[in-house]
Amino acid sequence: GPLTTAEIREKFLHFFALKGHLRLPPHSLIAPDPTTLFTVAGMQPFKPQFMGAPARFPGHGENRRVTTVQKCLRVGDIENVGRTLRHCSLLEMLGNFSFGDYFKRETLTWAWEFLTSPEWMGLDPERLYATVYEEDEEAFGIWTREIGLPPERILRFGADENFWPADAPKEGPNGPCGPCSEIFYDRGPDYGLDTWADYAQTRESARFLEIWNCVFPQYDRQDPLPDGTPVLADLPFKNIDTGMGLERIATVVQGAYDFYSNDVFAPLIARVAELSGKPYEGPQSVSHRVVAEHVRSVSMVIADGVAFSPNGRGSVLRKIMRRASRHAYLLGLREPTLHTLVPLVVEKMGDAYPELRAEQERVQSAIRAEEERFLKTLEGGIQRLGGLLSGLGQGGTLRGEDAFVLYDTYGFPLDLTKEIAEEYGVSVDEAGYAESLENAQNLARAGSKYGKSELFGGSQEALDGLPATEFVGYDELQAEGEVL
Ligand code: ATP
Ligand code: MG
Ligand code: MG
Ligand code: MG
Repeated sequence: GPLTTAEIREKFLHFFALKGHLRLPPHSLIAPDPTTLFTVAGMQPFKPQFMGAPARFPGHGENRRVTTVQKCLRVGDIENVGRTLRHCSLLEMLGNFSFGDYFKRETLTWAWEFLTSPEWMGLDPERLYATVYEEDEEAFGIWTREIGLPPERILRFGADENFWPADAPKEGPNGPCGPCSEIFYDRGPDYGLDTWADYAQTRESARFLEIWNCVFPQYDRQDPLPDGTPVLADLPFKNIDTGMGLERIATVVQGAYDFYSNDVFAPLIARVAELSGKPYEGPQSVSHRVVAEHVRSVSMVIADGVAFSPNGRGSVLRKIMRRASRHAYLLGLREPTLHTLVPLVVEKMGDAYPELRAEQERVQSAIRAEEERFLKTLEGGIQRLGGLLSGLGQGGTLRGEDAFVLYDTYGFPLDLTKEIAEEYGVSVDEAGYAESLENAQNLARAGSKYGKSELFGGSQEALDGLPATEFVGYDELQAEGEVL
C-alpha cells in the first residue's frame, strides 16, 4: 500500500541524514522567540543560527546541516480549515536547513530527488511545478538547466508570494528572510480545469497544491528608514530553510482526495460520523472536518503546557476549541464529546510526539471541562435567543446586531441562529449582522501591527488589542458563512 504518514516523516529525516544532516527533535509549540505566540514554521527555532550563532545543539552535536519535523500552529489559517481542504491549524513541517553551508543548487536538486525518486516519494515528475522570486535568475536556472523542469512550468512572483516571510521587506517582521522557490503538485482535472498559467492570476487552486517552500534566507530585515524604505542587511552567510507540509505530502502520496481522507484524519472523521450519527457528506461535512482537525491541534497544544484562559496563548486555544465545539453542536452533539476523540489522536500522533502520550489524561480532562463550560454558555444563548424570538413572533425579523451579540457573547454561529429562528418563523437581518461583524473586525485589526495576519496575527501584541473574554475570532466568520 501507499506510504503512511509515519513512514513519510521517517523517510524525510532519513533522506536528509544521508545528505549529512543532523536530526534534531522538534521545538515545543510555544514559540522560541516573541514574534509569535506559537511556533509557526520549522525555521523559527533556528533564527540564532541564521543570524550567525554557532550551529551547536547541546546534547545533539554540531552541524551546519540540520533536519527536523516541526509541529506548527497557524492561527491565521483557522478560518481556512474545513474550507480550503489544504489548511490545518496544526501542521507538521518537514524541513532541511543549512547555516552558511550548502545553498540553492543542493536544495532544489535534493527536493526534486526526494519527491520523484521511486525510492523516496516516487511522485510523477510531470505533475510537479515551481515558482521563483521574480528576480531570482539563479533558482530559475537551476530548475530549468540542471533539473530539467520546462520553463512553462515555472511562474515568477513578487515578494507577496516568493519571499518568506511573505512581504517581509515591506511589512516585517524583522530578522532572517529571503526569496523562496515553491514546489506545487498538479492533482489533475478532477480537482479543477484551471491551468498552471491561470494560477498566475488566481493564486488559489484546488488543483495545483503548494507542497514545499524552499527559502533562501540571506537577509536580515531591519527597521525601515524614516521615509519607509525597507532595510535588508546581508546576513553573515547565506542560509537554507525549507518547509514541506507533512499533511499535504501524505495526502498527495496516498492519492487521497484531501487531508481528511489520509491515514491520520480518516479514522477521526469516521469516529465523528459515528458519534453524531451524521454521515460525512454534503454541506454538514465541514463540521466533521473542523471537529477532527481542531481536536488534534487542541490536544497537541495542551500537551505542550498551554491551559485555556481568557488571554494570550490560552485564548487562542479556547478559540480553536470553541470553533470545534460549535461544529460538534451543529452536528447535533449536545453532550461533551470531543474529549472522547483524544485517544484516537494519541494513537495517530503519540509515537512521533511522546509528550502527547505522556499528557493524555490531562489533555482529555482539560478538553472535557472546556466543553462543559462552552455548552453552558451556549445554553444561556439559546434561552436569550428564545426570548427574543417569541417576542418577535411569526414573520418577524431578528436584528443583525442581536445576531452578532449572540455570536460574540455566546459563540453562536449565524447559521445556528438562523436555524433556530426558522423554527419560530423569524428571519434574520444578515446584512445588519455583517455590518456589526465588520465593525468588530475593524476594531480588532486596529490592535494588530502586522498586515498579513496569517502568520503573525497570533502575536501577543496583536491579541492585546482584542476583547479579553469570550473572544472566539472574527476573521473566521465570513469564511464560515460560506461553507455552512
Ligand atoms: P498556503 O499558501 O497554502 O497557505 P503557505 O505559503 O502559507 O501555504 P508556507 O509558509 O510556505 O505555507 O509553509 C511551508 C509549507 O507548509 C507549505 O508549502 C505547505 O506544504 C505547508 N503548510 C503551510 N501552511 C499550512 C497549513 N495551514 N496546513 C497544512 N500545511 C501547511
Ligand atoms: Mg503559499
Ligand atoms: Mg508558501
Ligand atoms: Mg498560508
